[in-house]
Amino acid sequence: MKFPILLPNIFNYPFTYESDFQLKIGDFVEVPFGKSKSIGVVWNEFEKSNNKHFKTKKIIKKLDIPTLKKNIIEFLNWFSDYNIVPKGMALKLVLLGGKPVKIFEKKFYQNFHSKIKKNSIKFTSEQKEALNQMNLSNKKFKVHVLQGITGSGKTIVYFEVLKKILKEGYQGLILLPEIGLTGQFEKKFIEFFGFKPAIWHSGITKKNKEIIWSGVINEKIKIVIGARSSLFLPFKNLGLIIVDEEHDQSYKQDEGIIYNARDMAISRASFENIPINLITSVPSVETYTNIKKNKYNLSKLEKRYQNASLPNYEIINMNNVKLEKQSWISKEIINKVSFHLEKKHQVLFFLNRRGFSPNVFCKKCLSVFSCPHCSINLVYHKNKDNLLCHYCGFKTSLKRSCAQEGSCNFIFSGPGVERISDEVKKNFPSKKIEIFSSDTMNKKSSKFKLEKIINNEVDILVGTQLISKGFHFPNLNCIVVIDIDLSSHGHDLRGAEKNLQLYHQLSGRAGRTGEPSTVYFQTYNTNEKMILDITNKNPDIFLDKEVEIRKKNNLPPFQRFISLILTGENENKLEKEAIRFKLFLKNKIDGKILGPVIAPIFRLKKKYRIRLLIRGSKTLKLQNSLASIIPKFKFLPGIKLSVDVDPISFN
Ligand code: ADP
Ligand code: ZN
Repeated sequence: MKFPILLPNIFNYPFTYESDFQLKIGDFVEVPFGKSKSIGVVWNEFEKSNNKHFKTKKIIKKLDIPTLKKNIIEFLNWFSDYNIVPKGMALKLVLLGGKPVKIFEKKFYQNFHSKIKKNSIKFTSEQKEALNQMNLSNKKFKVHVLQGITGSGKTIVYFEVLKKILKEGYQGLILLPEIGLTGQFEKKFIEFFGFKPAIWHSGITKKNKEIIWSGVINEKIKIVIGARSSLFLPFKNLGLIIVDEEHDQSYKQDEGIIYNARDMAISRASFENIPINLITSVPSVETYTNIKKNKYNLSKLEKRYQNASLPNYEIINMNNVKLEKQSWISKEIINKVSFHLEKKHQVLFFLNRRGFSPNVFCKKCLSVFSCPHCSINLVYHKNKDNLLCHYCGFKTSLKRSCAQEGSCNFIFSGPGVERISDEVKKNFPSKKIEIFSSDTMNKKSSKFKLEKIINNEVDILVGTQLISKGFHFPNLNCIVVIDIDLSSHGHDLRGAEKNLQLYHQLSGRAGRTGEPSTVYFQTYNTNEKMILDITNKNPDIFLDKEVEIRKKNNLPPFQRFISLILTGENENKLEKEAIRFKLFLKNKIDGKILGPVIAPIFRLKKKYRIRLLIRGSKTLKLQNSLASIIPKFKFLPGIKLSVDVDPISFN
């Protein structure tokens, strides 16, 4: 008998193997491949353009792993077509690095024991209404959006929905962005359910990955909380997917196999024919459009739990302020902050820039410190006492001989969080200050720091956007935005949306336990209307306008964009290839080709980057036409192409 076997490698089709024993679709097998062996899966169809000149080899054995469900196979086929990714690479996302997984003894799964604790939560009437809408008696595919303002209890509402699904014997998946800091979330989960969830992200050990993988395919593990890649876990009996913070752009995997985990979660749910809940306080423009078209169901939570009020906003026009030298915080802010500190409020200074100073140059020779591998300046980090490239990680020390004479004499221009922290220290010398950025918080020790912040043992925080991500700091009642600069995202069609999301999430950290709270915006931008727009309590006003702009200009989500990004170390050759590639594609695909344009950061990790942007209608025809034509173009050696369907950014 002959069987199509898909292998976890770069081929877009299954190979044909022979077997003496019967196999069914989804069986895991071991087969000879080239000079070695490989794991593979019995696929649901043979390769159409058959490769007859190969001698069919024999399957070595069937592996003792439960079969891969048919709907996962169908999902992977679709995933591959949609994202223009070889089928084998899609399968590789399911298989852990392409190695067979063993099935563990029972005791390994006992940590994830799933007896659900009883709790005595009294849901508010608004929460009950949302629950009613989310609890479906038929478990069919349906997208539901839970849009609730920050602090309205979205998490416990979807926990409750999940509880019901679990009680009926199904498994559940919660997708979270930025999984590194899940400590607080895990605690909340255990409080509610009374058992440990399986936590999945790229940083967990190989053994834990194997335990979770085999645990979900055997139904020993009921709930997984995971980052993007948990979407490819082989659940045996999945009943519900939750995508928390659905608007979060970190759902986009933009290296290697490029895909949007939120969108792929929706299609996984559709192939599984199960409900999916998208959770957000401000929906993405894509989701918002689907709500308006009645493709998605919506319920709203408009009140904060226990009627805590949302923060007030105050705008400080910096054009009227005289700052001291090397200073970025106005006197007015210092006074207001003192007032908050007297009341034992925690205060947050927000600046979305890591390190001490983003620009270092020499007074004498005027030359800056830039990255040797990227076209970007190095950022000075005072705590580590080095200069760092935020794109490739290149490090160097602050020593340089000057082109004029002796050593360079450095000037630091502009602040990062470390510098703002110094200024805050000068103004409030007796207060405890902590920096909250990926440099200080993405470590093991950060758990301890987080506890200190929650227990109000830290008076002042100075943080980057990392702090906007879902934290619950009970005493935080004052936020100062050092500079709300809304112009910086000019080249990005999602710039305005990103700002809306950021400032909404950020404001949402304040006043969560009922005390009145304020967010202060220092700004040089005299267009106060823009600020009011993005800080409006009702984000729908902004979203409605944004949708109109996108529609009028034929931008996503009304049209499909696909980025074709060429990279190479030789600038000249790359530019020529981009033009040659464009001419080649012209008239052969189902869309319009824009570009080539060079990336805003032209050189990254030693590679120059150029993009063609394909614009077309939202059908798979566009992807299909590209998938069949691209392999026919032979790039010069050293030039690499990556395809990004529904690109989010191009830095
Ligand atoms: P969101 O996710 O919407 O920002 P959370 O789920 O973090 O909000 O809720 C904010 C706080 O209010 C949490 O500490 C949560 O446990 C609490 N909370 C919300 N609703 C209730 C309720 N009905 N009973 C008890 N606590 C609640
Ligand atoms: Zn670099």
